[in-house]
Amino acid sequence: MINNKNKLEQILLKWIYQQRICNECETRIRFGDIECPHCGLDLEESIDEWIIPLANQISSLENSK
Ligand SMILES: [Zn+2]
Repeated sequence: MINNKNKLEQILLKWIYQQRICNECETRIRFGDIECPHCGLDLEESIDEWIIPLANQISSLENSK
């Protein structure tokens, strides 16, 4: 369990520092931004495709117990 917690922390840290790129203008988006600082594109529309791979990584961690 403690081992899994460390793995989870690694996944989340990697995720937070990973850069998102705006689909419209390729500006780099900071973690937590909900719209592009350059073109104002609403990023909430694509939040699912961003968050699903993270959810998959976490659930595969759960399954590997
Ligand atoms: Zn943009």
